[in-house]
Amino acid sequence: MPRKVLIVEDNEDNRELVVKVLKNKGYIIAEAVDGEDAIEKAVSEKPDLILLDISIPKLDGYEVAKRLKSMEECREIPIVAFTAHAMKGDREKVIVAGFEGYISKPVNIRELPNQIRSFIRGKRESILGGEEE
Ligand code: MN
Repeated sequence: MPRKVLIVEDNEDNRELVVKVLKNKGYIIAEAVDGEDAIEKAVSEKPDLILLDISIPKLDGYEVAKRLKSMEECREIPIVAFTAHAMKGDREKVIVAGFEGYISKPVNIRELPNQIRSFIRGKRESILGGEEE
């Protein structure tokens, strides 16, 4: 059964690139452009994974993740931060905030499908730098 990914990204070029790459791999895609839209689509679309930009209008990615993780119907959806801030402190911050992991920008289009698949299959990153499969 095809998996569904919700892409939350306010930058149109970035969003279209990710959408195109994942559609080519057979994913069903839902899109959101700001934090409120992200929460609405998470509830209505029930995606298998959310790729969530941190810098988005209305509610930032941290707030969106916090709210989704507090909602019974969304709690189990893996949320992956999509961020240009790939410094160690930022990684820790997204993991502590409840994200299951992160994918750094600029996106590596060859790696992206594998990264997405790993997270859907249960990959979880930890603050200690290791990865748990
Ligand atoms: Mn952004």
